[in-house]
Amino acid sequence: MTAALQILKDTYGYSTFRTGQSEIVDHVIAGKHAFVLMPTGSGKSLCYQIPALCREGVGVIISPLIALMKNQVDALLQLGVRAVAINSSMTASEVYEAKQKIRNRELDMVYVAPERLLMEDFLGFLAEAPISLFAIDEAHCVSQWGHDFRPHYAQLSILAEKFPDIPRIALTATADMPTRRDIVERLALGGGRTFIHGFDRPNIRYTISVKDNPKQQILNFIEKYKGESGIVYCLSRNQTDEMASWLKERGYNALPYHAGLDAVTRAKNQESFLAEEAVIMVATIAFGMGIDKPDVRFVAHMSIPRNIEAYYQETGRAGRDGMPAEALMVYGMQDAAMQRSFIENSNAPESQKRIEHQKINALLGLCEAASCRRQILLEYFGDKSQPCGNCDTCLNPPLTFDGTIAAQKAISAVYRTGQRFGVSYIIDVLAGKTSERIQQFRHDALNVFGAGTEFSKQEWQSIFRQLVAENLLQVDITEHGGLKITPQGQEFLKEKRTLALRKYTGKIKSGSKEPVRISADNSESGYNKDLFAALKDRRLQISKAANVPPYIIFHDKALREMAMKKPATLEAFSAISGVGENKLQRYGQVFLEVILEFGSQE
Ligand code: ADP
Ligand code: ZN
Repeated sequence: MTAALQILKDTYGYSTFRTGQSEIVDHVIAGKHAFVLMPTGSGKSLCYQIPALCREGVGVIISPLIALMKNQVDALLQLGVRAVAINSSMTASEVYEAKQKIRNRELDMVYVAPERLLMEDFLGFLAEAPISLFAIDEAHCVSQWGHDFRPHYAQLSILAEKFPDIPRIALTATADMPTRRDIVERLALGGGRTFIHGFDRPNIRYTISVKDNPKQQILNFIEKYKGESGIVYCLSRNQTDEMASWLKERGYNALPYHAGLDAVTRAKNQESFLAEEAVIMVATIAFGMGIDKPDVRFVAHMSIPRNIEAYYQETGRAGRDGMPAEALMVYGMQDAAMQRSFIENSNAPESQKRIEHQKINALLGLCEAASCRRQILLEYFGDKSQPCGNCDTCLNPPLTFDGTIAAQKAISAVYRTGQRFGVSYIIDVLAGKTSERIQQFRHDALNVFGAGTEFSKQEWQSIFRQLVAENLLQVDITEHGGLKITPQGQEFLKEKRTLALRKYTGKIKSGSKEPVRISADNSESGYNKDLFAALKDRRLQISKAANVPPYIIFHDKALREMAMKKPATLEAFSAISGVGENKLQRYGQVFLEVILEFGSQE
């Protein structure tokens, strides 16, 4: 058995690596650089943690948020791994002590924020320290094309200059093509390898509905999740407070979370969400990053998020444990206008604003799509896939029309005008509008000029958004937002393919009220529910005493397995997935007692 596999078993209590993990782990253990793109919940952490445990010295993990570091460190300590997070909440002597431990090789991993890492004296300290690897978590923060650009992350190019021989592994769950290129370039990972394992989160069901009565739509949606945890995202603080109390009045344990609340209330509400069951967090986007809670069963959006990356990431907080989960978004054109005014009123440079506007267009394309949501979502990140059968458009196909001719006209207009103009201009050409600019470029002499009068401006906008969503046209966000024809778009013209487009009605349709199958697999059956509840109670006691969230002790999944297999000996207990040596020693006896006691009552 390899050392890596041994650690997987002994420390983590897992019997096999998941897709991709083993390859990445071996690569980094061998001292090589890597860029890793894997979906949330797929097990990215192990990809740097196991190499850090196998290699000499301390693994330095760069992470953007204190909450995120705390979570990881808590989980590692439970596994018996020697880890610490150095951050601004520590006293000077605590920092000194941590550094001392690193020098003495008494730590396996240290988590730091980029701001800390980049400090002159910290870099000086690292230069003398034994380091096994650098892991750059949430690596999309490196790129301005990413959805969460952090200037300090961009400065991490210093790692390649100062520590050229120490392996660097960058990991993210969200990065489109420009972002990927940027990450590889800035972190100088070109000499290493890129590992891409797709974006699909098959256990999440996506539904996007036109906004009608959003509160009621969301209520209908969450009614079937009584007793479960979920998140409702809102656009503003007011909306957040209002929705939280509205849900409270209806018997839900809903708590607000936004930047306008005082820090104590915010921390308290977050703590309740993590430490208790069946809490609904009603929040602005200020909430969520660094929340690794595995059993969030639903995520609802009261308004559109900033862009597709944000949508993917926010909905991605559902179902990290791999069990069925659901995402609902209700959207209206006012939301888009609101998002656009946020962009316009921000201090971002014009170039960045242009990028943000184009990203909203892509998101609206997803909202208006007539085809599989998941396919479009995955296509956006460069993944090919088949219709999923687990989204609203797959389950209830919308009204469509034969958009073949419209698409041909639209794509030809883009082609004839030289693939450098934005949507509004092209629509003007199709509508036969004689503006000064159109005359100046002599586009009024083209065949396509005035060839699209059968549709209104709004209808054309909807068509163009769908063509972008279908990846027949592409908005070049690195070049002034001009439309370009993709290879698929060229193929479409050549092969004379037909295309169904969603009808633009301008009318509001209410979301489907159809109940959703909560369990796609049979995991709901086959285990004793009362024993599961008893195990959960014991877990809650332990987690409260240890001051960590319950899932840090054991995941629901592990408890469910215990309730199914009812192990009677420590040896049998150790075969439960997620029970490593440390947890066996600490908790084996306690949970066995619960199981035995339960058996004697039956
Ligand atoms: P990510 O960072 O990609 O979102 P994590 O690293 O947090 O995902 O892993 C998600 C969950 O899957 C964690 O609870 C982790 O312990 C578990 N996990 C990771 N690798 C394995 C494996 N090989 N076998 C079983 N569970 C695993
Ligand atoms: Zn689908």
